[in-house]
This record gives sequence, C-alpha cells and structure tokens, in this order.
Amino acid sequence: MSPADRREQLKLLYAQAQTCVRCAELAATRQKVVFGAGNADAGLMFVGEAPGASEDEQGVPFVGQAGKLLEKLLLEIGMARADVFIANTLKCRPPANRDPLPAELENCKEYLYRQVELIQPNVICTLGNFATKLLRDDPAGITRVHGQPEVVVLGRRAVRLYPIFHPAAALYTPRMLDTLREDFSRLPDLLALGPPDQPEWPPEPDIPQPAEVDTESPGADGNRASAPETPSGASPSPQDQLDLF
Ligand code: URA
Repeated sequence: MSPADRREQLKLLYAQAQTCVRCAELAATRQKVVFGAGNADAGLMFVGEAPGASEDEQGVPFVGQAGKLLEKLLLEIGMARADVFIANTLKCRPPANRDPLPAELENCKEYLYRQVELIQPNVICTLGNFATKLLRDDPAGITRVHGQPEVVVLGRRAVRLYPIFHPAAALYTPRMLDTLREDFSRLPDLLALGPPDQPEWPPEPDIPQPAEVDTESPGADGNRASAPETPSGASPSPQDQLDLF
C-alpha cells in the first residue's frame, strides 16, 4: 500500500473507532475517543496507557503535563511531536483514571495493531507498564525491561520495541527522569537502524474506498498534507489528527 493509501485507511479506522462500543462502561462515560495523533507515516511511534481527563476532553493524546515532558525530551534528541505518532493502549478514558481492565486492553488491541500496520513505524516506544506488558505480551515490569530494544511482530508489522518509563511517572521523580532521559538519548541510534526484517505475508485484500471519504492529495514529501486550522473548541477532524495536530 502506498503512504497515501495507508493514510486513507487510517482515516477509515479513525471513523470506526469514534463509534466503538466494545467496552460498554468506557463508551458510556467517555467524552471523546482518543484515537491517536501525529504523522501518519512516522518512523517512531509512542504508545502510552490511556487518555486522562484533558485528553478525553480534547480527543488528542498527551496534551497534559506528561505530554509537555514528552515533547521536551523529543526536542532534546532533535525531534518534534509532529514527527512522531502518539497513541495509547486504550482509546477511551477509564472512569476516574482507573487502570485499564484486561478485557478493555483486549478489546482495544485490534485498533492499535491496525494503526501499527498502517503507520508502519520502525520503532515503537512503550511508555510505562501497561503498554510494555501488552506489546511484549509478557508480565515483566518496566523497571526490569526499560531501555532494552527487541524486535516484535505486532499485527503484520515487525518493529523495534523500546520500553521506557512513562513520562507521568518521571514528572515528580528526578531519578526516574534521569533514566528516561538516558533511554531517550539512545533513540536516534535505534531509529538509524531502520526497519527490522519483515515477515512474509500474503498480500492484503483490496479494500474499497468509500466515496464520502475525503481523499486529499499528499504533500510534497508524499505523505504529509498541510493541516487546516481548527477553530478553538471545535472537534479536530481526523485529518487534523493524522497531520501535524
Ligand atoms: N497518559 C497516557 O498514558 N496517555 C495519555 O494520552 C495521557 C497521559
């Protein structure tokens, strides 16, 4: 699939997630589905835990203090939020920020794997315990495995999985912040390795494009198109979120 086709499929997946009711409690209590946002053709993807109150209000991941720290750490390695794609293990806020339930993680995993297949990142940074345990499919905690990259297959995509501490945990614990910064500093070398060897799969069946989906032309780099301004207070369209916010 071309980058433009993958982006269109991502927009369809976004639309599908907006009406998801797989988790009855989350569907009943959420304000917005937080699909994920960023560069739809990013080489680097982050997976956090679940939306909090601000994310639930705005429909965009990591917009609070933890997000600010993530942006700062990215800048320190010469990258911007707009270069990466950010998602979570859950697309809906658990009430009162409780931990995600195993059934919710299972329900939502299909969206995340499909995002990985469509974005095709080379490196996925899992932020904290929930994302790390889910994507490594192993109960080993983040304190044990942080900073150790490994190749895993998620959906149909082999990626370099790189677990690091969750920025929210590092906000108030200086020693954890030092470790997070150290792990972050190894990201450029990991990205420079490029994609890991990919498994062989039969081709994906052709998926018809519904006529109502806006198929705008890609930007000069073949995968980014310019994002229109979103009036404040308005819901960001999928196009906003799959571009540069
Ligand atoms: N923490 C997360 O894990 N995800 C968010 O989107 C915000 C905070």
